[in-house]
Amino acid sequence: MEMMKIADHKRFQVNGDEFVFLTQTGGIFEVENGSETQRVLNHDIARKNFTKQAFYSVLKGNRSDKESLWNHLADNRILTGQLMPKHKSMTHLRKIPLKTLVLHVTQSCNLMCHYCYHSPKDWHKTPQLSMELAVAEKAVDFLFEQSGKLEDLVLVFFGGEPLLNFKLISNTITYADEKARKQGKRIEYAMTTNGTLLTDKTIRFIHDNKIGTTVSLDGTQKVHDRFRRFPDGSPSYNVILPKLKKFLGEKSPKPVVARVTLARDAKNISKTLFHLLDLGFSEVGFAPVTTMDPDFQLGSGQMTHLLEQFQELSEMFINLALEDQFLGFTNLVDILVTLHEGEVKLYPCGAGIGMFSVDPEGGLFLCQRLTNEPSAGMGDIFNGLDHKKLEKFRQDALLDKKKDCNGCWAASICAGGCYHEAKIREGHLLSPNLHYCEWIKTWIETGLNVYGRLAREAPLFLDKLSMLRGHEPLFNSLV
Ligand code: SF4
Ligand code: SF4
Repeated sequence: MEMMKIADHKRFQVNGDEFVFLTQTGGIFEVENGSETQRVLNHDIARKNFTKQAFYSVLKGNRSDKESLWNHLADNRILTGQLMPKHKSMTHLRKIPLKTLVLHVTQSCNLMCHYCYHSPKDWHKTPQLSMELAVAEKAVDFLFEQSGKLEDLVLVFFGGEPLLNFKLISNTITYADEKARKQGKRIEYAMTTNGTLLTDKTIRFIHDNKIGTTVSLDGTQKVHDRFRRFPDGSPSYNVILPKLKKFLGEKSPKPVVARVTLARDAKNISKTLFHLLDLGFSEVGFAPVTTMDPDFQLGSGQMTHLLEQFQELSEMFINLALEDQFLGFTNLVDILVTLHEGEVKLYPCGAGIGMFSVDPEGGLFLCQRLTNEPSAGMGDIFNGLDHKKLEKFRQDALLDKKKDCNGCWAASICAGGCYHEAKIREGHLLSPNLHYCEWIKTWIETGLNVYGRLAREAPLFLDKLSMLRGHEPLFNSLV
């Protein structure tokens, strides 16, 4: 007789009503108070394997009611076969096409931010490499060759400060556009810049080529200038501001977003968010600095304070969403879109799956932040990917291999977290980021709560968030 079980799940409350998040499939369902579904979830049977007969014995009602509840739970994968494999075999991953290539167009930077993940001491000591056009063109060839049947590709310009190598960016786009035209594909561009080199010319170029731009800016002048300075120690905010105003003042074909690095004593996140939105950014994303240096790291008290501020912003987000207004708080938007689309992550991000980065000499790495990290090197654009090493990475990085994450209800969203953070904080790319488990779980729970409220009160708003990220509307119906 077939044994079944209630799928792994997390229960959470929204204004006194109960919801269930299915941790392996990403489904989210409301459970009506006093319903038979709630009775099953509260019963001991929910923690064991059971037969259909045992399941029926827990329920009230006639046989047809029981049958229909059984079918309903099975259809929604709340009821699952005991031996259902957790994840599909990964052997097919080798064939995954490449969608995104990040070009490290220069290692040089005209700023020397104190918390930079490259050691500031080394950064300006020796001449830094910049990419030559022949390497960039070869990298573009590599992207197209590896893209299989994908029609939409992404080329990202990263550094150092990429605008220091503006000519190369311009020539590379000409080359890639022509290649895309010949092959009947589409290519989009993105860039992360510190904003210091925005000029009339570079601004025009960014708009004309629809380059999705992220500007690294930490907030108000006082906050930004604490750590983001030129090598001579002078502050950068007032250099960037007029350029930024010009950039953001022009109608941009692509949203321009700000990325805020949160370092020691970062306070008043709301003030930072609204300052940057007032400047004209469409969204603002926050990331605690990745470092072991106590001079910059956020302490545990500061991380707790950060969470409280994220939660306050989440309340504001809901209130605005209920009036069909958008608050560009990227951290929450990302989590809501993940939940809305029922995305189940087997890997924390696309690094080494559909995305690689290329260093100025053509070396291939898992992602932009891991460029030049030997354990993240995966071949080069001239000789191709190191398939053996890549296959091993893909097998070892799979969530199932992270024993510490087994049984974690948040695993399908966190999947162990960023490899770069793990390398710095845990000593190994593939270690789960156990230092932030409690933090990330509380944050995901906040996201679940916001999701539950919006799903009931403004479901179409969730569709709009998906569309904002360029995805199809996929409304998750509630039980
Ligand atoms: S790192 Fe922590 S929160 Fe993330 S999946 Fe693993 S155990 Fe869960
Ligand atoms: S490893 Fe970390 S930095 Fe690199 S792409 Fe993934 S999340 Fe981003």
